[in-house]
Amino acid sequence: MRIGVNCGHTVSGYPGCGAVGLIDESKETREVGKRLIEVLKKAGHTVADCTDDYSNSEGNNLEAICRMANAQPLDLFVSIHFNSGGGKGSEVFTYGGQRHAEAVAACEKLHALGFTDRGVKDGSGLYVLRRTNAKAMLVEVCFVDTASDVDLYHKLGAQRVAEAIAEAVTGGHSKGGGEMTQTQYEKLKKEINELKPMIYDYMDDNMPSWAKPTIQKLMDKGILVGGEEGRLGLTMDMLRIFAANDRAGLYG
Ligand SMILES: [Zn+2]
Repeated sequence: MRIGVNCGHTVSGYPGCGAVGLIDESKETREVGKRLIEVLKKAGHTVADCTDDYSNSEGNNLEAICRMANAQPLDLFVSIHFNSGGGKGSEVFTYGGQRHAEAVAACEKLHALGFTDRGVKDGSGLYVLRRTNAKAMLVEVCFVDTASDVDLYHKLGAQRVAEAIAEAVTGGHSKGGGEMTQTQYEKLKKEINELKPMIYDYMDDNMPSWAKPTIQKLMDKGILVGGEEGRLGLTMDMLRIFAANDRAGLYG
């Protein structure tokens, strides 16, 4: 997917900066947004960072964000914000309150982390939803001025929030149908290796320590010799039998 990500507002203290409560919206939109960008990139998606840090007015900030978003074709534009005003939980705004799968999923994923689900809402009045060409959504993660929201946010950390939003945005899929993420690849590799019987070729760390004295003895006596490239080619069953025979005194 091609995804535009905006860390909402300018940085703290500049015109167009976010709400300040127990935490600072401008700071946290970047904590979550920058991580979201990394998570999406790692999954193979093409990400456009549509963040404008410094501006001389709120209007110019919003304009700059939309200009960056509209500079390329996008499948989705996501703006990260934090709410204020003493409410509780997460909400997602879309143009006309459309219940895009990604917007509904963002509410669900944040709810699964413990935030109250305030639902998908009509954000037709929001500049970044009105003036971006792509399908767009604005995520209000939680309230900067509600202690229980801030506590939960701190407990989870920005990374888990970013991962939840990334899952919502991509449906948990990597770039293309056939492509695997690094994590999926490692998992599959592990599963395949578990199906395959382990072969012990050398006296290395892979070999169980209980088998080593016996195998060493057999090699020293010339009873056991490696085949191709000195590989012993022993299975776990063979290790067990050799060890049992050794205990029975068969090898002296
Ligand atoms: Zn905001």
